[in-house]
Amino acid sequence: MAEPLIFERSVPGRRGYLLPPSDVPGFRADDIVPSDRLRTEPPPLPEIAEFDAIRHYTRLSQQNFSVDTHFYPLGSCTMKYNPKLNERIAALPGFAFLHPFQPAAQVQGMLALLYELEQLLCAITGMHAFTLQPAAGAQGELTGLKIIAAYHRRKGRRRSTILIPDSAHGTNPASAALSGFQVVQLVSGRDGLIDLNELKEKLTKDVAALMLTNPNTLGLFEREIKTIAAVLHEQDALIYMDGANMNALLGIARPGEMGVDLLQLNLHKTFSTPHGGGGPGAGPVGVVKRLEDFLPVPRVRKVGKRFRWEERSRASIGRVHGFYGNVGVLVRAYAYIRALGREGLMRANQAAIINANYLKAKLQPIFPVPFDDHCMHEFVVTLKALKTHGVTAGDVAKRLLDYGFYAPTVYFPLIVDEALMIEPTETESKETLDEFADALLAIEQEAKTKPDLVRQAPQRMIVERLDEVKAAREPNLRWKAGTFLFSPEGSTQRK
Ligand SMILES: *Cc1c(COP(=O)(O)O)cnc(C)c1O
Repeated sequence: MAEPLIFERSVPGRRGYLLPPSDVPGFRADDIVPSDRLRTEPPPLPEIAEFDAIRHYTRLSQQNFSVDTHFYPLGSCTMKYNPKLNERIAALPGFAFLHPFQPAAQVQGMLALLYELEQLLCAITGMHAFTLQPAAGAQGELTGLKIIAAYHRRKGRRRSTILIPDSAHGTNPASAALSGFQVVQLVSGRDGLIDLNELKEKLTKDVAALMLTNPNTLGLFEREIKTIAAVLHEQDALIYMDGANMNALLGIARPGEMGVDLLQLNLHKTFSTPHGGGGPGAGPVGVVKRLEDFLPVPRVRKVGKRFRWEERSRASIGRVHGFYGNVGVLVRAYAYIRALGREGLMRANQAAIINANYLKAKLQPIFPVPFDDHCMHEFVVTLKALKTHGVTAGDVAKRLLDYGFYAPTVYFPLIVDEALMIEPTETESKETLDEFADALLAIEQEAKTKPDLVRQAPQRMIVERLDEVKAAREPNLRWKAGTFLFSPEGSTQRK
C-alpha cells in the first residue's frame, strides 16, 4: 500500500514533543524581527506525534532498494557491502564529536588518521601525495583539472584542450567543460580501448591532458596505458585517470606505475562507505611529485611526532571544500583499508573480477557482449536483439525490480546499443549471481512470449511505471487527488 504523505497524517493540535513551560522572560517576535518580515500565518507543517513520524519514515525507507536489502549490480558505481565495522569506528565519540575549529593540539588522533590515510592511498595507487578534500568523484575531477591548468600556467603557456575517450564516464567531459577546457573526443578502437593512431592524430600542441578511466566503462583495462602515457608526456601533456574503477586494480596494479600523473579515487565506492541518494562521498586526488605544490590547502603535515595543518602553499589552487572534506567518510575508508590490509584488498579485487567474469560467462550466450574480452570488475551487454519484440533495455531494467533485483546501469556507455552495464562486486555470493542470471534469462523469455508484461513493468512494486521525464519536469507529490500539492515554488497548498 502506498504510504500517505506525512501531511495527510496531520491532526490539528497534535504535537511530537511538549516542552516544559519556560521560566525565562520571553521576547515578542516583532521586537526583534521587522513586522513586514514576520509570518501572518503559521507554516503549513504536519502536526503529528513523534511515533507517527518514526513509522512514516521507517516505512518509506523499507520501500527502497538498498545494498543492505537487495543485490545492486549498478555498473560504474561499485555498490558493494559496507561493513558495519566502519560505521562503528566512524561513530566513536572521539571522531564523531570533534569540531573542525578545534586547535590541532586537541585533534592529534584525527590528524594522524588523515595523514595515514593519505599515506595508504599513496601506497595503493603509487602516487606521491593526496588531497582528501574533494567531496565526490566529480569534485575530484574538477580539482584535478584545476591542477592541470595550474601546471601549464606555471610553465607559462595556455592549453585549452582535454582529450576524452568516448568510453569515459559522463562526469569527465562535464568537469572538463566546467573548468573552461574544450573537450575533444577520442573514438575507441574496435576492441573498446584507446586507439593509438586516433590519439596521436588528435594530440595537438593545445592538449593539456588526456582524461581516461582505467579500467574503462566497458570494464576493459587499457593495455597500452604506458605507451599512451609516453605519447602524452612527449608533448608535456598530462594524463589524468578517473580512478572510480579502482575496485578492479586494488592490490594488483598501481596507476603511478602506469605513467598516470594524477587521479581521483571514489572512497564511497571502492573503499566501502555508504553512498547513493546524494549521501556524502569523498573523491581524494592523488598526484605525482611534480604536481604536489598545486594541491589544495590546508594539508596535514607531520613534524617530528606532531601533526599540524599547513594552511598556505604558494602554488596551491586553494580550497575546494569547507574545512577538511567529508571527514566521516574518510574515517570509514581508513577503517576499511586497515581491516582488510594489503592481502585483503587484493583478494577483494580478485573476487570482484572473478564474479564479473562468471556472470558475463553465464549471460553471454543470450546477451552478446559487444567489446568482448576478459573483463575487469564490470561488463556491458547489449539487449538490442529484444528490439524486434518492442522491448528495450529500460523495460528489462524495470522488470528486474519485480524479480527483486536493483537494475544495472542502462544506456551507458553510449557506444553500446541498448546497454546494460553490470558490476556484481566481490561481496556477492555465487548463489546471488546465479539467481540474478536466472532472472535475466527468464525476462528474456518473457520479452519474446509476453512482451507487454515486460513493457509494463514493474508490476509488483508500490508504484507502477513512472513517466520519468514528466516526474522531473512537473513534480507532483500528491498521492491522492485533491489533498496536497507541492507547487513549483515549493510551497504547500491545500486544494
Ligand atoms: C561514479 C563515477 C564518477 C563520479 O563520482 P561521483 O562521486 O558520483 O561524483 C566518475 N567516474 C566514474 C567512472 C564513476 O563511476
